[in-house]
Amino acid sequence: MKALLLLLAHLYTFSAFEIGKAHTANYEFSNGQWFDGKKFIKKTMYSVNGVWVDKRPERIDSLFDLQNNFILPPFSEAHTHALEGIGHYKQTIEKYLNDGVFYVKNPNNIAPWTKNLKTEINGPSTLDGSFANGGLTSTGGHPEILYEDRIREQVSAYIDNAPRGYFKNKSYFTVNSEKEFEAQWPLILEGKPDFIKVYLANSEDIDGVPPVSKYTLRKGLDPTLVPIIVKKAHKEGLRVSAHVETRVDFLAALNSDVDEITHTPGFYLFSKDELDRYRLREEDAKLAAKKGVFVVTTLLSRNLTEDPGLMPFVKEMQAYNLSLLHKHKVKIVIGGDHAPSPWAEVLALLELDIFDNLTILKMWCEVSPQTIFPDRKLGQFKAGYEASFIGMEDNPILDLTSVTKITKLVKQGHPIEKTINTPPITSHGSNH
Ligand SMILES: [Zn+2]
Repeated sequence: MKALLLLLAHLYTFSAFEIGKAHTANYEFSNGQWFDGKKFIKKTMYSVNGVWVDKRPERIDSLFDLQNNFILPPFSEAHTHALEGIGHYKQTIEKYLNDGVFYVKNPNNIAPWTKNLKTEINGPSTLDGSFANGGLTSTGGHPEILYEDRIREQVSAYIDNAPRGYFKNKSYFTVNSEKEFEAQWPLILEGKPDFIKVYLANSEDIDGVPPVSKYTLRKGLDPTLVPIIVKKAHKEGLRVSAHVETRVDFLAALNSDVDEITHTPGFYLFSKDELDRYRLREEDAKLAAKKGVFVVTTLLSRNLTEDPGLMPFVKEMQAYNLSLLHKHKVKIVIGGDHAPSPWAEVLALLELDIFDNLTILKMWCEVSPQTIFPDRKLGQFKAGYEASFIGMEDNPILDLTSVTKITKLVKQGHPIEKTINTPPITSHGSNH
């Protein structure tokens, strides 16, 4: 009976599959070497309606020959502003998928622009995105200055040369007191954010004298407001991500019970005499692990550092803090903020020389999707998990650059056609 069914089933090589068609059927994926969290093992996998199953279903509708490829769960980008909904967003989506990146998280976007993405993303065979809309900060805090004084000019064609203030209640919400927060909250919820973004920056200076600096130090929310915001967001079922710059910001975020920290302290330095502001301590990393918070690498945010002479100190700080967090088993995830691609962020991580290829792959494939779509079963080849994967010809544990030569893409049982054959950007791009 089984043999007969096999004969009746269609045998597909990958390229022959009908791309884009809805596939609600039973598949067999043979000749793949599947990542088990430590190594690759040869086995046959089965999916039913886009979900992995333990046993071979009685009926197989299609067979896929994975041609001995190495199969990983798809990649993620846990902090990006590349997907926004203006400009060439269709190409951005296409590039992400071709690079094997299926899940992205934008922790500060403009809701009216992001609406343009509605028909393009979050389908079974498309890129999936999660969005915070505008973040919460104090008057004149980050990112108000960035949007009003820099981005406004860059996007003037899209906003009809709108005057300063255009981005208020779009890319940032101003919150200086609990009363202001209560007043803003209905407006924030009206935008239907997937999660809430709060800004902490140089919190230690709020009641004191800021250090002498040639450069303007950013500011954020009054840290005493953050636990109030987190409590309210959690009540609505919304997770909270926090921007941080210093160790004190990091601790304020942890003690407010945020779910994710979108930077590691020290991506920005203004003086080599102030390194203590940024260096985490053992007890901080222990607390982060205990709280279960996710921490995004966001190494390439370091391009915000004005003094290029400080870059070796920035890299040392990033390496120190990330190593310490990893040592205490904090959940580290991959995101490049304004990096040209997540691969550029991974290259920066490799350059720090603190993690081996396997550790980076686990962060990228297994842990990162958990902070983007915490309610979905992603990142594992186990029964009940979404049947999504990427394939490549060489073993990425031995040579990580093999992930830049992806040959197979399947999302929720839907094969996705490779349309771009140029490798992802390999140099570190600029930032703003
Ligand atoms: Zn960012």
